[in-house]
Amino acid sequence: MFIDTHSHLYLGELQHHIPEAINHLREKNFSHTIQIGTSVETSEICINLAHTYDIVRATVGIHPCEAQDIPVEKIPEQIAALEKMIQDEKSYVVWLGEIGFDHYHLSKDKNEAEIQKARQIEWFHAQAELAKKCDLPVVIHTRNCPDITLTGLRKSGLQKFVIHCFSENWDFAEKIFAISEETKISFTGMLTYPRSTIIQEVAKKTPLNRMMIETDAPFLIPEDKKSEASYCEPAYSLSVYKKLCELREESPSTIEETLWKNSVHFFSLS
Ligand SMILES: [Zn+2]
Repeated sequence: MFIDTHSHLYLGELQHHIPEAINHLREKNFSHTIQIGTSVETSEICINLAHTYDIVRATVGIHPCEAQDIPVEKIPEQIAALEKMIQDEKSYVVWLGEIGFDHYHLSKDKNEAEIQKARQIEWFHAQAELAKKCDLPVVIHTRNCPDITLTGLRKSGLQKFVIHCFSENWDFAEKIFAISEETKISFTGMLTYPRSTIIQEVAKKTPLNRMMIETDAPFLIPEDKKSEASYCEPAYSLSVYKKLCELREESPSTIEETLWKNSVHFFSLS
C-alpha cells in the first residue's frame, strides 16, 4: 500500500481531472493522498477535497512564495484563520504547511527581494509557533537557501517535520536528521531524472525509516511518465517508489511497507 504525501489536486491541468486522479490512486493501492495548502484560500480547498474524498487528507499553511508578498501586519489575522481551520477540521488536517524558505522565486529588484526574504522568515516562525501550539507535524519547502533553512529550523525548535521535494545534498540531509529523531525527507519525481545524481546519492544513503514519497503534482512528471503525460498526478508516486527500489538494497516489499508505515506514523493516519 502507498501514500502520496504531497500534491496539489487543485492546481493546473490536474484540477480538471480530480475524480480520475482519485480513481487511479484507488486502482494502484494508495490508502491516502495528502493535499497541501499554500495560502488560506487553498488550505480551504484542501479541506473541502478531504470532505469529498475519503482517500484525501489536508494541510493548512502559507507557502514562502505567497508569504513573501503579504505584509507582516497580516500575520495575526491569517494565523487565526489557519488555527480555526485546524481546530474545526481536526480529523482532516494532518499537517501544517507547506511553509519555509525560497530564494529562487524572489523579485529581480534587490531591495524588494530583501523585504521578501525578511517576510519569509517572519511568516515561517509565526507558523512554526502555531504548529507547536497545535502539535502538528510540518512540511517544509526549501529552495536555493539551505543555510537560511537550517538556521530557521534550528531556531524554531520544531522537531517533527519533513523536507519535501528533497533536492539538496547529503550534507544537508545529515544536518536535517541531526535536528531530531523525527525529521524526514521526501522524494518526488525529481529523483527519477537522469541528471539528479546528487539526490539519488542521498536516496541511497538515507535510512529507510527517514524517508517518504510524494509527487508535488501537478508539477514534476517522473521520467517514465514524461512521454505519456502532460501533467503529473498523485498516483505517479509509484514511479518514485520504483526508482527507490532500483537504488536501494532492501526488497521492494520492505521498501513499500516501510514507506507506508513512515507516513502513517508521521501523520497519525487512521
Ligand atoms: Zn507543493
